[in-house]
Amino acid sequence: MKKLKSKYLAIPIIIGVLSLVLLVIGNIAFQDKDYKLYVDFQSDVAAKKVSTVYVTNSPKIRVKLKDGKSYDTDNPRTDKFKEELLNKGIKVSEQSPTYLYEVIPAAMLSFSIVTIAILLMRSSKVASKGLRGVDSLDATAVDNVPFTFNDVAGNEEAKESVKDLVDFLKNPDKFTSYGARMPKGIILYGDPGTGKTLLAKAVAGEANVPFYAMSGSDFVQVYVGVGASRIRQLFKKARSHGKAVIFIDEIDAIGKKRDNSTAGGSEEKDQTLNALLTEMSGFNEKEGIIVMAATNRLDMLDSALLRPGRFDRHIEITLPDIAAREKILVLHLKNKPVGEINIKEWAQKTSYFSGAKIESLVNEAAILACKEDSGSIEDRHMDKAFSIVLAGHEKINRDHIKDKDKQITAYHESGHALLSLKVLPMDKLSKVTIIPSTKGAGGYTLSIPEDSLYQNKDYLKRRIMVLLAGRAAEEITFGPESITTGAYNDFQHTTKMIYNMVTQYGMGNTLGLLNLSELSSSVNVNHEAIIEECKDTIDSLYSEVRSILTENKELLERMTSALIEKETLFYEDIIELTADNNSVVQVS
Ligand code: ADP
Ligand code: MG
Ligand code: ZN
Repeated sequence: MKKLKSKYLAIPIIIGVLSLVLLVIGNIAFQDKDYKLYVDFQSDVAAKKVSTVYVTNSPKIRVKLKDGKSYDTDNPRTDKFKEELLNKGIKVSEQSPTYLYEVIPAAMLSFSIVTIAILLMRSSKVASKGLRGVDSLDATAVDNVPFTFNDVAGNEEAKESVKDLVDFLKNPDKFTSYGARMPKGIILYGDPGTGKTLLAKAVAGEANVPFYAMSGSDFVQVYVGVGASRIRQLFKKARSHGKAVIFIDEIDAIGKKRDNSTAGGSEEKDQTLNALLTEMSGFNEKEGIIVMAATNRLDMLDSALLRPGRFDRHIEITLPDIAAREKILVLHLKNKPVGEINIKEWAQKTSYFSGAKIESLVNEAAILACKEDSGSIEDRHMDKAFSIVLAGHEKINRDHIKDKDKQITAYHESGHALLSLKVLPMDKLSKVTIIPSTKGAGGYTLSIPEDSLYQNKDYLKRRIMVLLAGRAAEEITFGPESITTGAYNDFQHTTKMIYNMVTQYGMGNTLGLLNLSELSSSVNVNHEAIIEECKDTIDSLYSEVRSILTENKELLERMTSALIEKETLFYEDIIELTADNNSVVQVS
């Protein structure tokens, strides 16, 4: 459609430009005319030199002499002017002599302007109609989804829960003959990148039915009613195929809990949500259509969505545990040239990685191996890729970094590293670097946390201490007036952690075991007291960090010097460096 439009537009544009050129040329050609006073004209008339006078309505009139010359003179604008001239045997024309040169291009110009306007209006009408129209609905069915359960590693419970959906899609009559009702809607919930979309695709792939995917945000449009109409079109399309899996990603964009505060503006969302619910109750179980939706957080969804007969099956997709990570690694390393890679070790190192993060780790490693043209992916590629995935690419141009800044970063990172060794010896310190990353960090310290189901209060406090240690090291070394903005990101984390501890996890005193989010807004919560408790806790942890660093000042200095010299320290370097001082500090 776009090509057609530009082709039609070209013609009037060319005509318009041509006529403009003609107009200009015409004007220039007739511009070099002389001007004579009216009295001189009268004497020319008396001398019978004049052949033609072009009497128009303009202030100047044109005079053509018998010898072919011509000039302008003032228009006397008398009623008898024409008659007088005619009486003297002079031809009078009431058209300007440049008439044809002006009128034709001018006509062409206005013609092309009108045509361009009409064409533009039409195409924009098509576009705006398309916004509402059936054709624009970008949910295209993928018929032969190339995914099966084999492409989903780990998440065995989730796979088990969707297996009967596949059976149902393959043979809905069997289920209805037993009087079994299949859920119409399934919600997959869990952290980003855990494979929710992948699992939904796998269901369609296993059952060999078309897969319709849209995102909740596609339905949230500027125009009221568009979302609802898109929902209806989506279902209409899917039904026309008979069986299908409809997948709605980011369902929270339309199905968020309604709160009373945002009265206006949510009308569009409500309409869309209602359309979805109506469509879902509209088809009956035998039809073989299953709606799967994904969200990062189940507790954000409107309860209307979760009622029986709607999205009544909720499947949690969790971050992979170590065994699942190994499977995901194997899966994504399959079909790639792999050299000496200790997959078990990488499964260990990637704790708290999502499937998507592991996929991108393997991909980065493959890219590095390819750039190096080394023939296969080796451990060193994985190492480098690991840092890239966690912290971004290293900045290549580092010459402009001042020695002073380098020194500050080195103390800051050594602070993190030292505290990590002293209070979290179980988390493996895998890398400390003062090489800035393209993500904006001046340097970073990577430690690999142990896999665990829960994080206890003591652990959280220790993590906060490690995060505070960057600033503490700066302050101890350079004095309180020389602290930098480098700890900005650390404080974002610590603030969030302490606030969650006090208000969400029942680990504080002010609220005790109450959860702040669950308290209704009518309750008078003493926010100041909460903030005070958070601040006091952080303050006391900070002073503890400071004293640990002061006690180990010698090690801090040694680590900093090593960092400035080598820029990056790995696990082995750190072990060597701390061989004489590896006692663990007890935290009160
Ligand atoms: P989500 O929808 O939960 O955000 P995706 O399904 O989009 O996550 O996952 C993104 C990518 O990450 C997938 O295409 C896949 O390559 C990889 N991935 C995620 N989880 C898994 C898994 N369990 N097994 C294999 N690959 C996975
Ligand atoms: Mg997704
Ligand atoms: Zn820091």
